[in-house]
Amino acid sequence: MYISEKAPAKINLTLDVLYKRDDGYHELEMVMTTIDLADRIDLIDLPYNEIRLESSSGLVPQDERNLAYLAAKRLKEKMRIDRGVSIYISKQIPVAAGLAGGSSDAAATLRGLNKLWKLGLSLEELADIGAEIGSDVPFCVYSHTAIAKGRGEILIPLPPPPPCWVVLAKPVHGVSTADIFGQLRVDEIRVHPSTEAMAAAIRSNDFEAICNHLGNVLEPVTMSMYPEVRKIKDKMIQFGADAVLMSGSGPTVFALVKQESRAQRLVNSLKGFCQHVFLVRMLGILDQRRTK
Ligand code: ATP
Repeated sequence: MYISEKAPAKINLTLDVLYKRDDGYHELEMVMTTIDLADRIDLIDLPYNEIRLESSSGLVPQDERNLAYLAAKRLKEKMRIDRGVSIYISKQIPVAAGLAGGSSDAAATLRGLNKLWKLGLSLEELADIGAEIGSDVPFCVYSHTAIAKGRGEILIPLPPPPPCWVVLAKPVHGVSTADIFGQLRVDEIRVHPSTEAMAAAIRSNDFEAICNHLGNVLEPVTMSMYPEVRKIKDKMIQFGADAVLMSGSGPTVFALVKQESRAQRLVNSLKGFCQHVFLVRMLGILDQRRTK
């Protein structure tokens, strides 16, 4: 049997760090949503006890270090499955980009294996297993729009934001999330985004308010280490974006644009300047159309 599952990327509409916890993690408050840029995970059932993994991208580990592999292993152990699976990841989401590509691959593997092995687990149960693999995996299991608290695993669902275009631009290099958090000084954060104001803007379907309340406390940290991030942001504003923010720990910067023609113009203007530019839709909800 064969299952194909979409693994969409996320963007942060807000990212706030409240404090550093005793367990070493940072206490976060974020508003995240799902965009129409996705990896594809193909899963083939194997009649013997083995997990195989391959990817179209040489930039991700092709062994047990891959988050999709870890997801399959965890689910097999939890549910005592003595079958195996062959996993193929067609990578579209840039790696180490602040778009949760690895977490989404893990989440899609959990959703796909739940169908392939007819486990009958709920999304809540899959999200609980996902939390053992990574902080963003529970959000990616639902791939919707939500406030995320704690390490990112405590989710309060929101309705999808009003539709708009999202222009993504990524500098050539990736960024290690751990490095950025390592450089962050929580007591030096000057401006905190308002999670509640962003949630209210989404609930009232107010595109302008969403644009006004974008904010990410990691942005100045990443910008000080990688000045290209600021340059891309400045260019996007100059070229007509309605609002611009870095996603996650970066380095991807996204622009929200209401009008398609302006979004297309922005993409064209950025192309000479930045190697990786994508034009996608903000989905806010998991699009299951092309899955089996
Ligand atoms: P995060 O903010 O959660 O660290 P990110 O979106 O910035 O994630 P990812 O694309 O998830 O970045 O990659 C982070 C690291 O995870 C990479 O260095 C990569 O080696 C590793 N990784 C493991 N599995 C995957 C996968 N399936 N896809 C992408 N990266 C993966």
